[in-house]
Amino acid sequence: MRKDLMDILVCPACKGQLTLTIENETNNDVETGTMHCGKCPIDYPISDGIPNLISPVKLT
Ligand SMILES: [Zn+2]
Repeated sequence: MRKDLMDILVCPACKGQLTLTIENETNNDVETGTMHCGKCPIDYPISDGIPNLISPVKLT
């Protein structure tokens, strides 16, 4: 996942801004890490360069 994707990605639950934590990166691409929403609060994992933005908790 390219780091500049963080400019357009938002939390799918609350549309809030996400904070990126990088565990591994290659050539400005994030391989593994997490995107954290401070409002919900939820951590969205990034694995194999793919951000998983499916909310782990259904907010109603
Ligand atoms: Zn959120």
